[in-house]
Amino acid sequence: MSATIIDGKAFAARLRAQVATAVAGLKAEHGLTPGLAVVLVGTDPASEVYVRNKALQTVEVGMHSVEHRLAADTTQGSLLALIEALNVDAAIHGILVQLPLPPHLDASPVLDAIDPAKDADGFHMTNVGRLAMGRPAIVPCTPLGCLMLLRAQHGSLAGLHAVVVGRSNIVGKPMAQLLLGADCTVTIAHSRTRDLGALCRSADILVAAVGRAEMVTADMVKPGATVIDVGINRVERDGRMRLVGDVDFAGVSGVAGAITPVPGGVGPMTIACLLANTLTACCRAHGLPEPVGLTA
Ligand code: NDP
Repeated sequence: MSATIIDGKAFAARLRAQVATAVAGLKAEHGLTPGLAVVLVGTDPASEVYVRNKALQTVEVGMHSVEHRLAADTTQGSLLALIEALNVDAAIHGILVQLPLPPHLDASPVLDAIDPAKDADGFHMTNVGRLAMGRPAIVPCTPLGCLMLLRAQHGSLAGLHAVVVGRSNIVGKPMAQLLLGADCTVTIAHSRTRDLGALCRSADILVAAVGRAEMVTADMVKPGATVIDVGINRVERDGRMRLVGDVDFAGVSGVAGAITPVPGGVGPMTIACLLANTLTACCRAHGLPEPVGLTA
């Protein structure tokens, strides 16, 4: 069997186009421009690339983009003061603090300080609780992107057994909540899980969010299953640095029914969903109907 390759890059481009159309409509009909503020502390090279890409794509869909670049030795107090200022800035509908923060800063109070209505990343405990309770929430971008890809592939996910490998707050746990909300039977695996291979082989949907290069191998996948690879790992191959996922793509694509590649699968969906979340937050802030298909 040769798996269908799920083209996240193309899907994300369509999603951004949908967001851009909705943003143009908001401007024309209501004189509103959704605004996203991204806060970067320090000079981590990977974070700088992410922040640059986020700002570029925010502008491309017609939104107002603000970048706050703070020195690596910024204090917790001045970061919190900036969050407070953004919370009351009427031009800003989404706030994102790029993680990880430098070690002297505590991320939890910073995420807690963001107005939940402007929490574009969906990491605030209010949104986490709302997602868990099945209430309207702002949902973390990467799992939201995975859910969109799965819905496009399967239509209804009801009754399917989904195994999520990884239980982080930003990917694994919200992914499991979203799949539960989509009526899957959900199992979460982690580093203490026994016989991971047998568990994964029982999955109709297998989501790998671990951060270990190519750890999911063909013998761990049920024939015909849909495999979503969230992992981004830099490895050296033939003297060059390459990006690979948590899934052995070459081996698993011979067994799975559908699979996301790395790069070009889940990755592009993350920023597209960040833009969708900002648009959703703007519509909610102004009591306007939300564009269809952009939320969980
Ligand atoms: P974390 O390190 O926060 O979590 C990793 C999870 O994997 C933990 O729950 C851990 O278990 C589990 N784990 C580790 N080793 C094993 C093992 N041998 N068997 C089973 N489970 C294991 O990572 P993140 O969730 O933040 O990210 C996961 C991956 O996704 C990374 O590669 C990251 O780069 C990528 N990522 C990609 C994004 C995208 O846009 N595509 C966005 C965010 C992340 P335990 O809890 O027991 O320690």
